[in-house]
Amino acid sequence: MHLRKTKRKSPVLKPPAFGCLRGTPSVNLTRGCLHACVYCYARAFPETPRSEVWLYENLPEKLSEEIRRLSLRGKLPSSVTFSTASDLFQPHPEVRRLALEVLRMVLEAGLKVSFLTKGFIPEECWALFADYSSLIHPRIGLVSVSRDYHRLFEPRTAPPPVRLTQLERLSTLGLNPSVRIDPVIPGLTDREEAVEALFRRLSLCGVEEVSVSYLVLRPGVIRQMARELPAGIFRNLLKYYAGQPWQKVITSAVTKLARKEIREAGYALFREVGRAYGIRVRVCGCKNPDLPFEDCIPWERESPGEKFSKLPLFAGKVYNSKDADRFSGSRISKTP
Ligand code: SF4
Repeated sequence: MHLRKTKRKSPVLKPPAFGCLRGTPSVNLTRGCLHACVYCYARAFPETPRSEVWLYENLPEKLSEEIRRLSLRGKLPSSVTFSTASDLFQPHPEVRRLALEVLRMVLEAGLKVSFLTKGFIPEECWALFADYSSLIHPRIGLVSVSRDYHRLFEPRTAPPPVRLTQLERLSTLGLNPSVRIDPVIPGLTDREEAVEALFRRLSLCGVEEVSVSYLVLRPGVIRQMARELPAGIFRNLLKYYAGQPWQKVITSAVTKLARKEIREAGYALFREVGRAYGIRVRVCGCKNPDLPFEDCIPWERESPGEKFSKLPLFAGKVYNSKDADRFSGSRISKTP
């Protein structure tokens, strides 16, 4: 995919008005994301460019000016998060350079930083993490340790062993990284042996908390998956959503959730395996509006004076055993 430079016109430190991130500005360095994961809902936004990714080259200047102005007015937010619709650490030198510059800028301004990534964290960022360890809240997206899952669903992201190594390194720095297991692919990554393999490796990396949520379908995501997944896998996946209504979830009015009994059984399994490994499991409340609400904000709730919302507002076996084994992660031997 081609990277094109462009100028951002709208404010950078603008809080998104949804979910657990309500009230916390979310910074995207790019429009579109070079990882191009098969299930990515942001790819299907009408405003997302189709065959290229736009890099906001003027982000540092804009950000610097906004920090200056908001500080003068006493309105500088206490935290920022990267990112809701793109990955902070994408595989391109220009994006890496911008990520480092912007991270340094917000940390030097004293803001807490949360990021969620499936990418390679550049070497230059590690020194920054060490220097500002009290301000960094890292989250790594990792759904499965299976190479087949990685190849099919998110082949441009950092492979699972790399993400595990990064988790270990973040733990060693005392940054207490958490893991976002999203999207759980029903019938594939929620199989007991797959969950067990994932949690075993996470515990070895010092992970103490995960948030988890099943894949939600939207029309654009369904079209993407139909194009990019093997036909058999795609067809079988849809069975878990059969008969489900389109409904409003977070900002989209046309979302399908996996059937409730599938998600309930899956989350119960995640909790059970989590307990066995001493890992706390939170179920994402935003993407499961029909279940008891749990938040999965990347940091502990703070005093009411700080800029956090209280609550987000929202208005069987399918694969044969050979297929399933490919997704259990049992073929990965070189992970910690
Ligand atoms: S890394 Fe995140 S934002 Fe980027 S394509 Fe994958 S799901 Fe979308």
